[in-house]
Amino acid sequence: MSDVVRKVIAFSIVILGAGLLWIGRGSGNDAEAAKNEMKEVMSSARERMAFNDPRLKGGYRYERAGWIYVHLEGDPNSIGFQHGYLLGPEIEDGYKAVSLEMTHTTKRDWPFFREVAREMLWPKLDPEYQQELEGIAEGLNARTGSPLDVYDIVALNSFEEVPDYYVPWLDKQAKTKNAPNLKSPGNCSAFVATGSWTKDGGIVIAHNNWTNYMDGERWRIIFDIHPTHGYNILMDGFPGVIASDDDFGINSDGLMVTETTITQFEGWDPQGKPEFVRARKALQYAGSIDDYTRIMLDGNNGGYANDWLLGDRKTGEIAQLELGLKAYKLWRTKDGVFAGSNWARDPKVLKEDTPEFNPNDMETSPNARRVRWEQLLNENKGKIDVDLAQQMLSDHVDSFEKKAETNERVLCGHVDTSARGVAIWAWQPFYPGGAVQGKATDSAMTKEMRMVARAGHPCGEDFLAKPFLAAHPDYAWQEPYLHDMKAGPWTVFSSGEKPEMPQTSN
Ligand SMILES: [Zn+2]
Repeated sequence: MSDVVRKVIAFSIVILGAGLLWIGRGSGNDAEAAKNEMKEVMSSARERMAFNDPRLKGGYRYERAGWIYVHLEGDPNSIGFQHGYLLGPEIEDGYKAVSLEMTHTTKRDWPFFREVAREMLWPKLDPEYQQELEGIAEGLNARTGSPLDVYDIVALNSFEEVPDYYVPWLDKQAKTKNAPNLKSPGNCSAFVATGSWTKDGGIVIAHNNWTNYMDGERWRIIFDIHPTHGYNILMDGFPGVIASDDDFGINSDGLMVTETTITQFEGWDPQGKPEFVRARKALQYAGSIDDYTRIMLDGNNGGYANDWLLGDRKTGEIAQLELGLKAYKLWRTKDGVFAGSNWARDPKVLKEDTPEFNPNDMETSPNARRVRWEQLLNENKGKIDVDLAQQMLSDHVDSFEKKAETNERVLCGHVDTSARGVAIWAWQPFYPGGAVQGKATDSAMTKEMRMVARAGHPCGEDFLAKPFLAAHPDYAWQEPYLHDMKAGPWTVFSSGEKPEMPQTSN
């Protein structure tokens, strides 16, 4: 008898037993209790069966310091299956928060995003990533019985590019009446430094993720991916999403990658390849700055347009790839520093891809943080290391007001405390968003595939949902999924590491 047949028979017996249990009980509360019991029996039987799926071999997870560390390995479908299975509950929860945000801000329903995923995005994906995404849907279903299918997973993967890049482009093309005010987001503060700028002369790279807290409090996965093809990857990420997406990651050929978005970017190419798959592919296959640039440019769709900050620990060289859609620019050096806080600087990109952005308005969050980066990095030239990077990511100096404050103009953003919000990103006053976690690494750590990360605000402050919602009823629509975002300690994670203690669950 084959394993599969044996499993099907075992599963049928369990279901039959549960059914008899149900019939055997009387009516009313007893029947309800028996029904719940049957549901539980069936779901644990399904989990047991899936647990024996050979695709799970090698994958594991554990939790530490507010993060969930997930190790995935093997062929694309197995990596996906492990991802979907090991993070099943988190994917379902993340989907609820992200889909609420996507539908609320765009005034489009979920079937719209599914259709975009199926018709526009799916055909442009490399087969390898189609297999991985199918694996995620299969693993998720095996674990939780979730009805989400691969197109829901693709739509989830596009949550940074479709709502804020494609939809405003579409609304403009279609002259949609009463179109919502959608802006490309202003995500993140970051820098990369090398040569005489750093303490040991190697590369130091650091990043904090800016997003709404509803998404950000869930952006707490450390993915350790060992694929059959390409390099091993260590990156932070979001449940169900195949790219880091905020982005921070390193690979086993010594490439170090992060980015900040380009404020007020406009444009979309419906024939292009989704950003989430180009970014994942580049981190998996690029062994050099040139490789990285080539992969990101191949099929550029304009989605989630970023200033990419790159380092190659093999050469000590760093780069900034300002990736617009109509224009782009690559700067590179073996002795210097590049910082990012959501501003473009190449004249051609500014003119063609960000026509509304004003680089001279020093009151805005991107420009105020640009000034602060320049101050901090110049003051610390020759001393920059990972410890100092952590302090910089936690910085609360408002360069415009010239004082320390937690607001939208500081590197560790707390927009929920600002009556101004950030109009150029369509973030209203007291918007519950800002810096939601931080990461850093250097050349020596990258050689050993290690990085340091902190969940929650990089400064260590907690965000508490209940008092916030009581004070700001405008955001009551987020109430079901906006939870506390507690900060954890700075914690080192490395590729291939195992949990210190045996896990009792998951
Ligand atoms: Zn802070």
